[in-house]
This record gives sequence, C-alpha cells and structure tokens, in this order.
Amino acid sequence: MNDEKKKCPLCGLNAGVSVKSAFSNCSSDIACPRCGQFYASEALMSSVEAGNGIKSKIAENNWALSGWTKLLSETRKAGEENIQIDSDDLDDIINNPLVPKKDDISAKSLKLLEAIKRRTKHYGKRVDLQWAKHYPLAFAQNYEEFEALINFLGENNWIEILNQDTASVIVRLTAEGLNFSKEVVLNSQVFLATWFHKARDIKNKNLEKCVKENGFNPMCIREKAYPETIMEKAFGEIRKSRIVIADMTGLRKNVFVEVGYALALEKPVFFLHDSDYSKDDDLGFYTKQFSIKSYDKKEKHLSKIVESILGLF
Ligand SMILES: [Zn+2]
Repeated sequence: MNDEKKKCPLCGLNAGVSVKSAFSNCSSDIACPRCGQFYASEALMSSVEAGNGIKSKIAENNWALSGWTKLLSETRKAGEENIQIDSDDLDDIINNPLVPKKDDISAKSLKLLEAIKRRTKHYGKRVDLQWAKHYPLAFAQNYEEFEALINFLGENNWIEILNQDTASVIVRLTAEGLNFSKEVVLNSQVFLATWFHKARDIKNKNLEKCVKENGFNPMCIREKAYPETIMEKAFGEIRKSRIVIADMTGLRKNVFVEVGYALALEKPVFFLHDSDYSKDDDLGFYTKQFSIKSYDKKEKHLSKIVESILGLF
C-alpha cells in the first residue's frame, strides 16, 4: 500500500495526514486530523498540485470544505462509504444548505454546539478541543474565529470553559446547552413544497413515505378549504421546519413562493425533480443556481436521494 506523506488537499495540513491509494476507484483515501476521512478524486489531487483556479477556490473556501467534510465524516452511519470529493463538487459543497454563511455566527455556533453534543456521552463530560485540529467543527476560518465562537457559546451559558492553553480548550455542556441542542436535534419536521394534484398523488405519498422511513416528520399543506390563508399556514409550517424539500416538478408558483420564503429564512432547502413527468420543465436557470436531484419511476431512486439528504441531519 502506497502511504507516502502528502498534504490534505482541502486544508493543506501535512502533519498527521495519511494519503493512500484507493485502488478500487482511482482516488486517494485521505485521513486528515482536521477534515476527517474522505476520498479525493485523481482530478482533485492533481488540480491542487497544478496550482490552477481550483487551488485558489479551495484556499478561499477551505473553512467551508473542511467543515463540511469533517461533519459528514463524523456523522456517517456505520457501514456507509466515505464521501468522495472531486474538483467538480467544490461549488456544490460551498453552496450546500448545511454549510453556514461565512459571517453567520449563530449558525456556526450551533454547528459547534452540536459537535460538542456529539462528544458528550453523559451530562458533565469534559470535551477536549484542540485549536489546530477542531476548528472545522465550527466552520471557523481559523483558530481565532474558533476561539471567539467558543467564547460566544460560553457567554450564552451553553457551555462552561473549564481550562484553556495554547494547544487546546476543555469545555463542558451546561444543562441549558444540553437542552438547547436537544431541541434542535429533536426538531424533525421536514416541509415538503410540492405540486398537489391528483395525478401527482402517488409520487407525493411516496415522498412522504421516504421522509418517514428516515425518522423525520413530513409536513405538507394539502387542504383546499381556506385558499386565502393557505400561504400563511404554509409559512408558519416552514418557520417550524428544520429542512425543506422542494419538488420542482411542474414548476408550480406555490412551490417557488415557498422556496423563496424558506431561503430567506436560511433554512436548508433541497431540490428534486421528477424526470418522468415532463421534459418541458425548463430548469436551466435554477440548475445553474442550485443543485437539483432528478428522480424517476424506479421507486428506490427517490428513497436513496431522500436518505442521502436526511442522513446529513
Ligand atoms: Zn484537511
């Protein structure tokens, strides 16, 4: 096995990084103390070395790329494959709804709180965070921002800072922090923005079923009784939801309004499209802005897509 020392293609770390050849899919098998475990495609590895536009895109966004990779690496279920990252995937990752905006301090601190929660096996557990290694848990850009986010959690009384030195900080979740992060974790409502039409009934029911199978509660607004208040009701449910899944099939006006509202609230929005329905849906503009996943009549197809979305939460 080729185990030569190389740099992590995402964060540039050298020390402690293992890069091996993954023979099955011509990619490198990376284990980075900061970014976690992932496969990097040959194209990603070579474009980084070549010093072209990819290299500067990574340098500018490595806080998002390392944060995302670390999150997926930590929350992967047993038996699931490591994620594979190609140079073509970078924009999708940077714009992924799970990646906080660069200056969204509350979203970043919540990610950090969830990461501390994952390390808290029992109330009172001391959690050791290393400045140089753990800053992607907060999607922080550097140690300085990481330290400020830790202090922010402390100021809100969600964590207690027990000890800190130049290498690491030891923290402990307070009861308030434990409950706060539980609330966030327990909110499992998924708002389904979709076209409600008799002909779409089977597909919509299948979508609801897939969401339920992943342990989440699907919420969709079907009633026709109060058309004048239905948008208000939909908006209320979107505010309460943790995630929004929007089926763009048929390019329905209501779906666009719901998506716009959810995006303005900075909810994670994931897009689907039924490729069996119509080839006339002109998604060109939207696919340029967002990543839209197409499903077809193979029943398992939709279920796999929904599983991959909800597996992130
Ligand atoms: Zn790394």
